[in-house]
Amino acid sequence: MAEVPIRIGLEIHCQLTNLRTKLFCGCPADYRGSPPNTHICPICMGLPGSLPSPNKKAIEDGVAVAIALNSEISKRMTFFRKNYFYPDLPKNFQISQYDGGGGVPLARGGYLHIEGGKRIRIRRIQIEEDPAKLAYEGTIDDSTATLVDNNRAGVALLEIVTEPDMEDPKEARAFLEKLRGILECLGVSNGELEGAMRCDANISLGGGTRVEIKNISSFKEVERALTFEITRQRQLLARDIEVRRETRHWDDVRRITVSLRAKEEEEDYRYFPEPDIVPIEISEDFIEGIRKRLPELPDQRRERYIRQFGLQEHNAELISSDNALSKLFEECVRMGGDPIEVSNWLVGDLISFTRELGMELTDPRVSPSKIVELVKLIRSGSISTKIAKEVLMESLRSDESPEDIVKRRGLLKISDEALLRDVVEEVFTENEKAVREALHDEDVVNFLIGQVMRKTKGKADPNLTYEIVKGSLERIKGGAPDS
Ligand code: ZN
Ligand code: MN
Repeated sequence: MAEVPIRIGLEIHCQLTNLRTKLFCGCPADYRGSPPNTHICPICMGLPGSLPSPNKKAIEDGVAVAIALNSEISKRMTFFRKNYFYPDLPKNFQISQYDGGGGVPLARGGYLHIEGGKRIRIRRIQIEEDPAKLAYEGTIDDSTATLVDNNRAGVALLEIVTEPDMEDPKEARAFLEKLRGILECLGVSNGELEGAMRCDANISLGGGTRVEIKNISSFKEVERALTFEITRQRQLLARDIEVRRETRHWDDVRRITVSLRAKEEEEDYRYFPEPDIVPIEISEDFIEGIRKRLPELPDQRRERYIRQFGLQEHNAELISSDNALSKLFEECVRMGGDPIEVSNWLVGDLISFTRELGMELTDPRVSPSKIVELVKLIRSGSISTKIAKEVLMESLRSDESPEDIVKRRGLLKISDEALLRDVVEEVFTENEKAVREALHDEDVVNFLIGQVMRKTKGKADPNLTYEIVKGSLERIKGGAPDS
């Protein structure tokens, strides 16, 4: 069937992980590793008579994110109660914000650019408290008991909702990666922490029914869940079966989405203004104060890399969106590495090698001095690019410096003309048929060069080898009449 347009929107919940305390009480916000139900107090448990009081730093962090996402910050925002009855909610309501019914969220509108310059619009940003964490005895489907850990209840969350501007699962993932880079750059949220960034997605095909997918645990899973859902909906459409408007759950073990509930039955949250928290006025001065303290953001960094170092758009985008990669790049340049060559190594082999080795870019074995040394070895003509790849891999694995590896393994490039002539002659003698073909066929010339490389274990200077092989062929052509 014909390709139908796909529209994907995301709803992301990010914990503000650098706060000392929860959103409305003094309980420590860093609950990871603590015994269950030890970070709780009458306020986050909603006991009668307790009063919530908003964490000022959480609002500052929210405003910083809103500025970074080009959103319009509300002058006067309000908190609302979202009521529902579920074991993860000790109060039976969540203090949240609401865009409607007279409610005003922290910010509305805005956008973020993903690679290629595409703009993904933001619909709204709001602050709310995290529910408790549920643990199931057995699996979620056939568990015999549900355990509640309230340590997470009341931790500050930022909810970011996009417009349905993404057209394929890869764009959704790119958006999330970019957003994570911005949050980390601002120092408000560490997306590496388990459960710190959670995502729901909605998707519709061909302008049809919108299906929501919940419970997606990682960015990789977002891409998988959306890809599955596209296939599922396409198959329904191909058989003329209507796609139901519903909420589906991503089962990351079976890697399928399963129906959770039909949209018609969606709960009524009975939103109403939180009577214990007065509306919060946000002054222009407050916003300006935060704006002035913002660090250089990924997009600004990308522009600077292009302007200051002449990087290609693609390299600048990839490096600037990743804080660890940016740091590595800038250290390499500071140590005298050529920015363009360094950037090519970073976005090319370094990223794929570290992935292959399961290494983080922050691993001490990924040191800037290795990259700089490698680039210098190639520049000075000491090693070929092919050998350099091998050296980089070995150096990441072993922590030996590239220079030491080259010395120990005798990998210096062979630029000795007399030596290379001998090798070429040997190759010609062993491949008489190929030599005759190479007189008319450039592909076979490359084959001969490949043979020289093989004999020298990749150490032959490629330019010099090409000249010698071509020269020898010319002489054969000139000497013997073409048959
Ligand atoms: Zn508390
Ligand atoms: Mn929410």
